[in-house]
Amino acid sequence: MIQKIPFVDLQAQYKELKKEINSAVSEVVQNTQFIQGEAVADFEERYAAYIGAKYCVGLNSGTDALILGIRALDFKEGEIIVPVNTYYSGALAVIENNLKVVFVDVDEKDFGINLDDLKRKITKKTKAILVTHLYGQSDKISEIQNIIKKVYNNILLIEDACQSHGAYYKKKKVGTYGAFSAFSFYPGKNLGAYGDAGALTTNDSTLVKKLKLLREYGQEKKYIHTSIGVNSRLDTIHAAVLLAKLPHLDSWNKNRQQLAEYYTELLRKKVPFVKTPNTFSERQSVYHLYVVRVPKRDQLLAHLLNNKIFAQMHYPLPLHLQKAFSFLGYKKGDFPIAEEISSEIISLPIYPQMTKAMVARVVDTIKKFYKKA
Ligand SMILES: *Cc1c(COP(=O)(O)O)cnc(C)c1O
Repeated sequence: MIQKIPFVDLQAQYKELKKEINSAVSEVVQNTQFIQGEAVADFEERYAAYIGAKYCVGLNSGTDALILGIRALDFKEGEIIVPVNTYYSGALAVIENNLKVVFVDVDEKDFGINLDDLKRKITKKTKAILVTHLYGQSDKISEIQNIIKKVYNNILLIEDACQSHGAYYKKKKVGTYGAFSAFSFYPGKNLGAYGDAGALTTNDSTLVKKLKLLREYGQEKKYIHTSIGVNSRLDTIHAAVLLAKLPHLDSWNKNRQQLAEYYTELLRKKVPFVKTPNTFSERQSVYHLYVVRVPKRDQLLAHLLNNKIFAQMHYPLPLHLQKAFSFLGYKKGDFPIAEEISSEIISLPIYPQMTKAMVARVVDTIKKFYKKA
């Protein structure tokens, strides 16, 4: 019987940290401070320090970090530029704030923002650019900042760092460059809670004040509501799990980097027509995903599945072609690079507890597929 290679393996991660996690969770259960318990502020402080930002605000999810972060920036109207190859939440957050989404195409080199298209899309109405550090790799922050400077100085940078906990751009981690940065602690992310959780990092104390009201019913004191807010808190239990996991994040990221290097080495040797991810000296990826471009993508996915290898696609349908966003008026052909890429990309299994032997088996299985095809 062939061994299954899952896309991620959270059980293997739990086995590694069973003692720490059980005791962290059990402490919360025993002291019953489920909402805003000590672990929440403790985690916020440590995560801010880890990222190198002044502040961290715990929230319900990465999606809420984007929605509430943009709300706190208080744009009355205008446009926010969003890459078309990213997760749904980025565009949703703009729409939820009654601002206009303007999509930009992908850069083939790094799956980030296409700078030529960005230059075309920036207008006087542009309030912010939502940069996504996709797959664990930072986007071209300086290049984007330079374009902003040349056009209209007051455009803000917002980072969607939901896939990039610990990734570097130049000498600083992502999550320190934007007006604010959104992080998700969805269980399968590089740093994951035991349910939905998220946070936002920023250096702006005014923004922090607003967000602390926003996340808790706009209340300044219990039952005294001074603004319109929602319920979007980081649960104590998740904060406790995150605190237990945070000291291991760097070594997990290192494992991911080594596995990614091994994938690239083997793929180049055995199936050189498969396009492996580019690396850049000033950007250290944490390989939340290992994404390659391949011919006959759908057949390859099926072949891998037949061999019990669970690969995925990020993302199979660019945002401008999603039915939910059809009211924006985009159509097929508007973003040719994103559309082409979406039919070729495949995310191969990668997680810190994966072995090099498993990577080798994935690559050999890919090689066999093309030999037959
Ligand atoms: C996971 C993810 C989100 C959403 O985070 P949730 O915590 O699931 O709401 C947003 N953007 C990107 C790029 C993501 O990968």
